[in-house]
Amino acid sequence: MYDYLIVGAGLFGCVFAHEATKKGKKCLVIDKRDHVGGNVYCENVDGINVHKYGAHIFHTNDKAIWDYVNQFAAFNNYVNSPVSISKGKLYNLPFNMNTFYQLWGTKTPEEAKTIIESQIKEFGSKNPENLEEQALSLIGKDVYETLIKEYTEKQWGKKATELPAFIIKRLPVRYTFNNNYFNDAYQGIPIGGYNKIIDGLLKGIDIKTNVDFFKDKDELSSMAKKIVFTGKIDEFYNYKYGNLEYRSLRFENTKLNTENLQGNAVVNYNDSKVPYTRIIEHKHFEFGKQKHTVITKEFSEQWTPEKEAYYPINNDENQKKYQAYKELSLQEPHVIFGGRLAEYKYYDMHQIIASALQKTKKEFN
Ligand code: UDP
Repeated sequence: MYDYLIVGAGLFGCVFAHEATKKGKKCLVIDKRDHVGGNVYCENVDGINVHKYGAHIFHTNDKAIWDYVNQFAAFNNYVNSPVSISKGKLYNLPFNMNTFYQLWGTKTPEEAKTIIESQIKEFGSKNPENLEEQALSLIGKDVYETLIKEYTEKQWGKKATELPAFIIKRLPVRYTFNNNYFNDAYQGIPIGGYNKIIDGLLKGIDIKTNVDFFKDKDELSSMAKKIVFTGKIDEFYNYKYGNLEYRSLRFENTKLNTENLQGNAVVNYNDSKVPYTRIIEHKHFEFGKQKHTVITKEFSEQWTPEKEAYYPINNDENQKKYQAYKELSLQEPHVIFGGRLAEYKYYDMHQIIASALQKTKKEFN
């Protein structure tokens, strides 16, 4: 008999399993995929770590979380500085003095601020209620129309006026020439890839891949005293309040006999007529010197049950539904829900780890 059956071998499940094992508990981790690691899993393609389920760049402001991941792998000093192509021109991200120079030719913070503040004034002083209003009130219409609107609508498959405001607050706005996409104090890519962290977390723990929890729910549940569930919460409850909406992704990978195709790990494509949102050139995450390269075109797609659910769509309607599921989940004495899908939350990796550590603390103290 196991103490915990952990459904899903992503970061949440792996951190929980690791901490529980340290406390002397016996865990079984299952995953329906043929590998562990969830969406941070990397596939080695001729010496290049390919982020198979989308680019993952680790960043955090929390020293304890940084120390935690560094137990399992050393990190390189990669700093994410994506660029975006809009109507044939290239712009630096996040929105900073380089971007403003490329847009308007402004050379000082004061010049840029004058333009941005006058555009923000055009929006007025009302409280932003959706992503479009949030962007207009934060950065004005030129940046919104050049670098946000079409990318966002392609990414989410919804009008920017139908999306929650918080999504755009992920991106910094700076009046310095600083192209670092994140404001956090710690950032990097694990040397040797994310699989090294996952393997470290799961060392000595029983694992079963290619196991679908829902196909064998009763039998699997009977193997442990408690369940840690990291899958979709609506699926756990058999969609009784209807299904939550997700956004899915499709990745098109190509190996090329070119040393350096785009000069950067991440290039975003803003224009709606370009069918993909970004091209990832994986070797640049690890400063690769190979003679070849692997690129991934990322297409955003409507989610259907046979596809992977990548992003929760946290608009009011979905949040209301999620709350109903959450109420049910709070009444489960033997199930712990955690992670992006079970909490229906747009978590980053460092937030998932923090949340898993918090839940283990609660469980074992
Ligand atoms: N975004 C944008 N233009 C860009 C990049 C991002 O408008 O070139 C917006 C878009 O709405 C996106 C959000 O900012 O969903 C968050 O972007 P981030 O890069 O953090 O998303 P992720 O890497 O998680 O997909």
